[in-house]
Amino acid sequence: MSTPVTTFVERASREVNTPKVRAVDAGARLLTAKRLKGVEEYPAMDSMRDRAREIRLHTVAHLDTYLEQFAEAVEAVGGKVFFARDADEANGYIRRVARDASAELIVKSKSMVTEEIGMNAALEADGVQIVETDLGEFIVQLANERPSHIVAPVMHKTRQDVGELFARELDVPYTEDPAELNKIARQYLRQRFLRADIGVSGANFGVASTGSICLVTNEGNGRLTTTAPRIHIAVMGMERLVPTPGDLGVMLEILARSAVGQRLTVYTNVVTGPRRPGDPDGPDEFHVIILDNGRSQVLGGSTSEILACIRCGACLNVCPVYREVSGHAYSDVYSGPMGAVLVPSLFNIEGNEQLPYASTLCGACVDVCPVRIEIPDLLLALRQRVVEDGDAFRWLGSAMSAYKVAATRPRAWRAALSSGALFGRAVRSGWVGRLPGPGGAWTDSRDLQMPAKEPFHDWWRRNRGS
Ligand code: SF4
Repeated sequence: MSTPVTTFVERASREVNTPKVRAVDAGARLLTAKRLKGVEEYPAMDSMRDRAREIRLHTVAHLDTYLEQFAEAVEAVGGKVFFARDADEANGYIRRVARDASAELIVKSKSMVTEEIGMNAALEADGVQIVETDLGEFIVQLANERPSHIVAPVMHKTRQDVGELFARELDVPYTEDPAELNKIARQYLRQRFLRADIGVSGANFGVASTGSICLVTNEGNGRLTTTAPRIHIAVMGMERLVPTPGDLGVMLEILARSAVGQRLTVYTNVVTGPRRPGDPDGPDEFHVIILDNGRSQVLGGSTSEILACIRCGACLNVCPVYREVSGHAYSDVYSGPMGAVLVPSLFNIEGNEQLPYASTLCGACVDVCPVRIEIPDLLLALRQRVVEDGDAFRWLGSAMSAYKVAATRPRAWRAALSSGALFGRAVRSGWVGRLPGPGGAWTDSRDLQMPAKEPFHDWWRRNRGS
């Protein structure tokens, strides 16, 4: 990924308070409510989360062993494995396969890792047509946008937006009826599945002992992508392994519940090698691209725990920052708390130095994370790196120095609290909508809550004596 040309703050300022963000906020709240219900109905959730965390951290800690085992197992069942150091190598491999097969059309199921490597643009430059087949990704592709959420890519659009988009791009009568919109997309896509030369998928998990990849979807497009075309290419981040099918079972228990509150996704596909003699369907060729793209640098470092992430999206849905700015404010397809850790860890922190600050450190993300990733700790580790590099917000150094003066001198501290209380008493409502001078940057997009009318120390003396 190249260094972004705009900063997080600039992009967030554009997004905040727009209809798009209101749609994202509503969608995130809905998914959070569904998750809560799904978790409440499953008493074993807590112990499963502990088990899942153990499995993922163990796998990440022994990744070299499991990668070797996985690659051998894929080849043993007739698949081909390619280790790609970066996006160029991964795209180069896909382009070679496409060229050898004289491919003109590729269908693709939802995959964040192919978004990460910019696969569509690379293949389109060779004249190959790519069609996204996940409904959300299909809409995003038609609108020439990028996903705003890792699980629900089109969370930023209303059904009216989609109706207008389909009418404009697919030349169909306007409708905002979800069933009709689904039907239009299905009719369009079905023909592409049948004509496609190659199907490209991601992999929610790879199973080291069997060489299988597992895809979870709610639409069935993953199943068609991996079986209808003659060639199937799966692109998988190198950290997405689990050791055994039993471990995969643990992941499946928690993934859909955390993502959308379902016991399981409607389709859970486990693909092991290409079609064998006697199989009624399946591809003749099965390729797995195992992508590094910065991951091996993260291993063993201060943020390596983020490699345990299973991309459920739950931390995005509860994040007060994500819900105010949407996924489009972030510099990559990975957004919200997990993106704020993953993107500066995988790619340059330079250009992404504001992302670790895109959090209130409230800890809501840890509460919902199915593998209990300590995201606030990882964000603090990244903030430390930003400060050491001298790239922190300019005002932050002066603000922290002023705080240090007040916090280490009792008199100065009491004076600061008393002046805060004076402001608090002056503003009756307890909130200020607009501050003058540089403080206006704060109130541009939110109100400022005034300090308590009576400092805590005064209250304590009044109620409890000295
Ligand atoms: S960090 Fe945790 S909650 Fe967030 S996407 Fe990853 S697994 Fe899900």
